[in-house]
Amino acid sequence: MTSDSEGVVVVGGGQAGFSVVSTLRAAGYVGPVTLFADEPHLPYQRPPLSKKAHTEAADLSVSLVPESFYAERDIELRLGDDVVAVDPAARTVRTRGGRSVTYAHLVLATGARNRPLPVPGADLAGVHALRSLDDALAVGRALTTARDVVVVGGGFIGLELAQVARAHGARVTVVELADRLLSRALSAEVEPHVRERHEQAGVRIRTGTSVLALEGSGRVERVVTSDAVLPADLVVYGIGAAPRDELARAAGLAVDDGVLVDEQLRSVSDPRVFAVGDCARHPHPHADGPVRLESVQNATDQGALVGRRLAGQPPARYESLPWFWSDQGAVKLQIAGLRAPSDDVRLCVGDVPERLAAYAFRGGLLAAVETLNWPAEHLAARRLLERRTPVSADDLAGTTLGALARARRAAEVRA
Ligand code: ADP
Repeated sequence: MTSDSEGVVVVGGGQAGFSVVSTLRAAGYVGPVTLFADEPHLPYQRPPLSKKAHTEAADLSVSLVPESFYAERDIELRLGDDVVAVDPAARTVRTRGGRSVTYAHLVLATGARNRPLPVPGADLAGVHALRSLDDALAVGRALTTARDVVVVGGGFIGLELAQVARAHGARVTVVELADRLLSRALSAEVEPHVRERHEQAGVRIRTGTSVLALEGSGRVERVVTSDAVLPADLVVYGIGAAPRDELARAAGLAVDDGVLVDEQLRSVSDPRVFAVGDCARHPHPHADGPVRLESVQNATDQGALVGRRLAGQPPARYESLPWFWSDQGAVKLQIAGLRAPSDDVRLCVGDVPERLAAYAFRGGLLAAVETLNWPAEHLAARRLLERRTPVSADDLAGTTLGALARARRAAEVRA
């Protein structure tokens, strides 16, 4: 027999796991709620970690909520207690400490881990990844003395950190394997504008370049790349992340670069197990096939969807519009919707030189929008895409989404 007295167990104390437990209680769930987090810290926000240098734990006002939040809502918070096994038949999880907890429903919110840097010397002192709060403290402290910083990976984390290091006065070089920056998520049309702004801020960028080795006696002193040897007293790498789906895999649940879930975020192998956030691969109305999204929006919205459902609300499909932002010094990059490689992208330069928008059309209709330093246009894009308001390239000729939305509202008022 199962009963709600067995409650909900959530594995993972990031933004997605937090969203599940807080939504469960906000939606009136009264059964036991247990949140397992492998890190010793209260659940925290990751985005600020690569946008500013942090040197003291106290400097990090990144906790999502204070500890009292959990106690007041009777959420059992198990910090530094990792779940090492799931037994779907017995509906139990087992922790490293040997404790076993039974669930009525299990939510996997285990996130992603950094891909390790696959070169000799990656274990030298002065070489850091940047994902956890402890990583951010180590990088922040190193930045107080670093003169020559090499950032490996010209993705979101790498470029954010490059600007933080510039702000500290360091010489900064970004080494990127692909022939352009941000190739995972940004269109080829916008990339040169981002690159130009980074170079104007004094960041040296080497695309199409491999890191062959990191060298030094004990501490890193230089980075050997395919075309140069770069002096370095600090190396930070951000070369992508892989989902933490090994618990699910070991439990016999279907995984394929992420825990495979249906449109309601329920494991395709077990109706009592859900997966949310960076670790989940799910169908999405804006994508052709199952996708795995790494963003705060996705983690928050997916956690809330599962929290509401487990609190007794009717099941719903996950259809939230994906959106994303990255602050890289003078570059504020925002993306609404999911661009596909075959989309037709049109650039629009804003009325002030810093602004730029790129509109991606699929089948003649707007599907995604990338903006630089133009938050109002990003918000207009979100509103239109969320409502599935059709916008064609002709509609947008010579105008912006903000102006188009205003004109359409005015026409509705007149009608
Ligand atoms: P993150 O979230 O870590 O910033 P992204 O996927 O946004 O992840 O960016 C990772 C970047 O790292 C990509 O631009 C990718 O091409 C680049 N990259 C991957 N492997 C290497 C490598 N070995 N050396 C340099 N760059 C790499």
